[in-house]
Amino acid sequence: MSDTFSSQTHAQGPSAPFKVLRVALPSPLRRLFDYLPAHPTPTCGWQPGLRVRVPFGRREVIGIVAELAYGSELPRTQLKSISEVLDDAPLPGDWQWLCHFAARYYQHSLGDTMQLAMPARLRQGHPMAGRTQTLWLPVETHDVTQLQRAPKQAELYALLRQHPHGLPGRAISAHGFTRDQLLALQKKGFAHSQEVILTAPQPASGNLLASPSLPLNREQATALAVLHEKLDGYHPCLLEGVTGSGKTEIYLQLIEALAAKGKQSLVLVPEIGLTPQTLARFRSRFRVPVVALHSGLTDPERLDVWEAAANGRALVIIGTRSAIFTPLANPGAIIVDEEHDGSYKQHDGLRYHARDLAVARAHYHNIPLLLGSATPSFESLQQALAGAYRHLRLTQRPSRHPPAKLELIDLRHQRRQGGLLPGAIRAIKSTLKAGKQVLIFINRRGFAPTLACHGCGWIAECNQCDSRMTLHRQPSLLACHHCDSRRALPDACPDCGSGDLRALGSGTERTEETLQGLFPNVTVHRIDRDSTRRKDSFEQLLKEIQRGEPCLLVGTQMLAKGHHLPHVTLVVVVNADGGLYAADFRALEHSAQLLEQVAGRAGRAAHPGRVLVQTLHPDDPHLGQLAEHGYSALARNLLEERRIAKLPPFCFMALLRFESPREEAALALAQQAAQALRQWLKAANLPVRCLGPVPAPMERRQNRYHIHIMLAADKRSQRHAAANWLVQWLEANREARKVRWSIDIDPQSLA
Ligand code: ADP
Ligand code: ZN
Ligand code: ZN
Repeated sequence: MSDTFSSQTHAQGPSAPFKVLRVALPSPLRRLFDYLPAHPTPTCGWQPGLRVRVPFGRREVIGIVAELAYGSELPRTQLKSISEVLDDAPLPGDWQWLCHFAARYYQHSLGDTMQLAMPARLRQGHPMAGRTQTLWLPVETHDVTQLQRAPKQAELYALLRQHPHGLPGRAISAHGFTRDQLLALQKKGFAHSQEVILTAPQPASGNLLASPSLPLNREQATALAVLHEKLDGYHPCLLEGVTGSGKTEIYLQLIEALAAKGKQSLVLVPEIGLTPQTLARFRSRFRVPVVALHSGLTDPERLDVWEAAANGRALVIIGTRSAIFTPLANPGAIIVDEEHDGSYKQHDGLRYHARDLAVARAHYHNIPLLLGSATPSFESLQQALAGAYRHLRLTQRPSRHPPAKLELIDLRHQRRQGGLLPGAIRAIKSTLKAGKQVLIFINRRGFAPTLACHGCGWIAECNQCDSRMTLHRQPSLLACHHCDSRRALPDACPDCGSGDLRALGSGTERTEETLQGLFPNVTVHRIDRDSTRRKDSFEQLLKEIQRGEPCLLVGTQMLAKGHHLPHVTLVVVVNADGGLYAADFRALEHSAQLLEQVAGRAGRAAHPGRVLVQTLHPDDPHLGQLAEHGYSALARNLLEERRIAKLPPFCFMALLRFESPREEAALALAQQAAQALRQWLKAANLPVRCLGPVPAPMERRQNRYHIHIMLAADKRSQRHAAANWLVQWLEANREARKVRWSIDIDPQSLA
């Protein structure tokens, strides 16, 4: 086979051009590393996408050939040779493309991007091949009398005949048979074995569906018809449908249409959304293989799923954020459920947004893209309103109960118990009396957010962060929710010695305690990160709740999203004010999404629901609009405000974060960087705004100081040019090695 070398790089030196492999290595440096191709050439020829083992410093590491070139900036004699080629075919081309795209867009090292984007087993050098297992099958039409003198073998033969699709050896020994008995049976010609790939066996021929699809209502049918208009081209659609309006049914029917053509669908769900129930819903619909990428998989299982997707055996692939990097042999569509969800954004390393990569990927594959949400992100909503995405809407629930309206209740000047107003407590009481369940939403875990001294005003603060410690009672301690440091509760005020320390405000533990006191005969379930640390405990609890006994659920946003809680008819929001006056311009968007999602938990099944929202700002116009007209009206208004203020999605941002244990060091580097950038922008005549440096909203975290620079431009390409220049400047700067810095393209939070 011939090598597919191109002449991307030309030798500068006097020597003749020579073949070079440019390799992406696990390194934060944004560059490739040149190696000489070793002999022999792999059977497929040298190609980008082959994993190679190379000497790197004093170690050997595994990298991926990213480019082929003639010549290097280094003389040939200084180049090392690769030690080994690990693959006889390159990693999937669509995967390579996505890694290159993500590395370029997010200004990240290609090597690190590829490391993150591949399963651990491939990182470690294991081959990319579906694992197989041996199945034992009966051979029919034999004279069973031959087995008369071997009763155990006859029994085993009978067992095999009950399983005409085969049994693995493990199952056979579990039935009490030995390997010798099996081999004897094989020798006599009664059994034979077959190697099959472990994951995703071939789809059953004939009908794709294991259970029938639902007859669609008018809105659903219209939406699906629009999707059917263009199944084989880039076709971005925003499905804006109120909670419980049947969006998932549309996904299922789109997947069905594509599976019928042998095409794969990649479905992204939020971290919190990939529950066994969700998976069961997809699996029970289809007879084609549905595979899931979730945190519970072992490394070999994860590779199996990847391989099944890359080879086209898996027709439906469901996963959380990182599943966007799953290769697809026959891509049919990408679906992003709850596309507004914050968990699609990675907050360290490669700070990618899986929804945005989904858009890029659908475009690359030239396939439909379906973004679904009851509360679309402003980015997607703007695209839909501007006509760049098709806008599909579902305004009704099949259950006929419209989502409940928010009822605002005034927190000012009223006595509260465990954070709850008398009106809310009365409503809880009558709901329980009617035999229903209540969800009390409170976005703070712990007992109380503040511990203060009544004598002198001292407040318990974290030693390492600019933040207060949260008081916990189960177990009793002070904890910082930003750095996770803990300490014992003081007996007396460390400043004045007074014993009068008071817990101010309410968290989930306090509300739980209060409710248990008020309703001693009712079960109160607290659901937050502290109460559900065990992996399956949350699942267990959800099952119990779905059985429908009257009970109280006190929970954080873990409970607010996605779950189907058919017996909840009352939702109480303890405090809606978190995002109203926050400094972050996205806070209001996110808090409106959360409120609408929480409200959506009420009255999803046969019973209408009620949502009580406690607030210190009952006259706030935004909150009023959300209550009166819903998310969709508020979002359109807020988008206008963003347009006027030239904020995303009407501009493109990048956030540079600098951090150091020494505040001066972080600040000095940020100042130099901002100054250098401003000069360059002026010289290049590039209209990019550079703001800062400014201290981060919480400047000190874990004893490190955080300083920010923000870039904003009207055009994506301008932002890209400026961010790229700044990153290169920092990478070349010696001072920058002493300070930790990172870049966040399209930051979702300014923290
Ligand atoms: P969403 O994804 O918008 O939250 P779901 O797809 O989960 O909504 O639908 C909510 C409920 O309505 C589910 O129980 C679902 O089975 C049911 N449902 C959806 N579409 C229909 C339909 N066309 N006819 C009857 N029930 C439906
Ligand atoms: Zn004091
Ligand atoms: Zn802290």
